[in-house]
Amino acid sequence: MSKTSDGAKTDHPSDADRPGAELWLPERRTLTSLREAASGCRGCELWRDARHVVFSQGRASAAIMLVGEQPGDQEDTTGEPFVGPAGRLLDEALEAAHIDRSSTYLTNAVKHFRHHAVGKRRIHDKPDVGNIVACHPWLEAELAAVKPAVVVCLGATAVRAVLGRPLAISRARGQRFDGPDAASEAGVFVTTHPSAVLRLRGKDGFDEAFDRFVGDLEAAASAAR
Ligand code: SF4
Repeated sequence: MSKTSDGAKTDHPSDADRPGAELWLPERRTLTSLREAASGCRGCELWRDARHVVFSQGRASAAIMLVGEQPGDQEDTTGEPFVGPAGRLLDEALEAAHIDRSSTYLTNAVKHFRHHAVGKRRIHDKPDVGNIVACHPWLEAELAAVKPAVVVCLGATAVRAVLGRPLAISRARGQRFDGPDAASEAGVFVTTHPSAVLRLRGKDGFDEAFDRFVGDLEAAASAAR
């Protein structure tokens, strides 16, 4: 929360609210030290209303890195990524694509849950570009530590964080992009966020959307081999 020139409070964060995560990165950047350091990050305003930082899950030797948007309500409560409804759909899709979740590295572009409260409910808000930029040093450090063969961007926020520019998911699917500096050998693939497929559950178009999601994951896994 910042203040306007006349001292009134405003919901719009100031630059001072978003110094960026770089200040909190440890000198020695293993996944363990990064995970520990991230819990103290104050690189943007999102830590204030969150219960946990949700860093990542997976091994440093993973060939496939999956990057989502941000933790959701259940992830924020447990501190683990992709454990809510979208995570369960991701599990189904990984199984259908014959990818063992434990062999992947799962993380998010933004490590704290951006939301607003309606009564007791916490409603998801999409992270804005300022949050993505502030949190990017963590993702860059993860890419450097894991050096995956393939990075899969799950949705537009992940695309913006990994490639540093916006891309239309519908046009970028099925293409291979060059990896960012911290993982320059990696191939980057783009697909939808599992929550977008989940929203179609029980409606026309779910099967097609799910199959296409699985197909994107299969293509990425094949490139990682
Ligand atoms: S969202 Fe990222 S930059 Fe912002 S406080 Fe959390 S870890 Fe730090």
